[in-house]
Amino acid sequence: MNEPPKILSFKMPAEATPLGFRPKRAETLLDVQRLRRVFRAGDAPAVERVTFDLCEGELMALLGPSGCGKTTTLRMIGGFETPDEGQILLRGRDIPRLPPEARGIGFVFQDYALFPHLSVLENVTFGLRKLARAARVARAREMLALVGLTGLEARKPHELSGGQQQRVALARTLAVAPPLVLMDEPFSNLDAAMRVETRQEVRKLLKAAGSAGILVTHDQEEAMAVADRIAVMDRGRVVQIGSPDELYRNPVSAFVASFMGRSNILRGNANGMVVQTEFGNLPLTRAANGTVALSVRPEQIMLEPDPDGPASVVGREFRGHDQLYWVQEGERCMLVISGAGATFEVGSRVRLRICDCVVPLG
Ligand code: ATP
Repeated sequence: MNEPPKILSFKMPAEATPLGFRPKRAETLLDVQRLRRVFRAGDAPAVERVTFDLCEGELMALLGPSGCGKTTTLRMIGGFETPDEGQILLRGRDIPRLPPEARGIGFVFQDYALFPHLSVLENVTFGLRKLARAARVARAREMLALVGLTGLEARKPHELSGGQQQRVALARTLAVAPPLVLMDEPFSNLDAAMRVETRQEVRKLLKAAGSAGILVTHDQEEAMAVADRIAVMDRGRVVQIGSPDELYRNPVSAFVASFMGRSNILRGNANGMVVQTEFGNLPLTRAANGTVALSVRPEQIMLEPDPDGPASVVGREFRGHDQLYWVQEGERCMLVISGAGATFEVGSRVRLRICDCVVPLG
C-alpha cells in the first residue's frame, strides 16, 4: 500500500488527500456531544446521543435511511433547530445559542437557493457585502474560476444546468471562506452522471479551499465518494463512524453491513479467529466466541460449476464489469458477484466457496 503523503498544510489538492486519511496533526474544528432532539413529547427522539468530532478540513458524511435524524442533526449544527440536550463546540466555542448567521458556517442545500434575478457574478458577490466593490468582484471571479465557471458570470441561474447552478451555490458559500460547510442532499436534483461528476468536484473544491464539510445523504456510494469519514445513523443514533474502507470491511452490525453495500448475513460458531459455518471453517477479521452473525460480501464468494452441487443459480444480472447472481442453497438465497468472464446461466447447478475473512457482527 502507498504511504500517505506528509501533511504540510490542510490547503492541499484533493488528489493528494486519500479518502479516509485523517491528518494526525489536524486541530478539532467541531465537537458534537450527546445531541438530543425530541419533537413531540411521547415520540421517540429524532436525534439521540449523537456524538462525533470533525477536524479542520475534514469531510464527514451523515449516512442513513430516511427519517434517521441526519437533517435534524445538521440543522442543530447550523442553528436552525435547538437541541434539547447536548453540546456543539465550534473551535472550542459553545454555539447552540448563536443564530445561524453568527456561526460562520456555510450552507449548500438541494435547491441551491440562488437569486433568480441576479447574475452568476452577483449571486456570488452577494455574501461579500463587507468588502469594497473591487475586492468583492475579484473574490467572486476567483471563486467562479475555482468552480470552473469563468465566462458564465453574466448568465442568470435559469440559463445554467443543474450542475452549474450547484457550482455557483458552492462558489457563493466558499467565497466567504467558512471553516465548515453543511450540505443537505446537495446532489439530489442532478441526474446520475452529473451527480457522480459534481460530487468529485465538490470534494476537490472543499479540500482546495481548506473548508471542512458535513454532507447529509442516504446514498452510500455518494458518502463513500465524498467523505473522509462516514457516520452511519439509525433511528436517531450514530451506530458506527469510520473511513469508507473501515465501514465497508468491518461493519459492526448487520444494519451497517447492508447499508454500506450488499451483504449476505450468515450464522456460525466462533472460536477466536475462526468460525465454523455451513461453508466450512472460515477465518474471521476479528476475534469472536460463541454463536455469531457474520457478514459476507458478494465478491467474497466464488461460484464453481458442479452438476451435483448443492446450490442453483436463480437469477443473474449482467453489469458489464461483473455479474450479480442470486444463488439458492436450501432455504438460503446468497448474493454473489463474479467476473464478467465465465457466465452461469439461470438453472445451473453450482457450489459456493467463501474465499476470504468474514466479519463477525455485534
Ligand atoms: P430524510 O433522509 O428523509 O430527509 P432524515 O434522516 O434527514 O430523513 P430527519 O429529517 O432528521 O431525518 O427526521 C428525523 C425524524 O424527526 C423523523 O421521524 C421526522 O419525521 C421527525 N421530524 C423532523 N422534523 C420534524 C418537525 N419539525 N416536527 C416533527 N417531527 C419532525
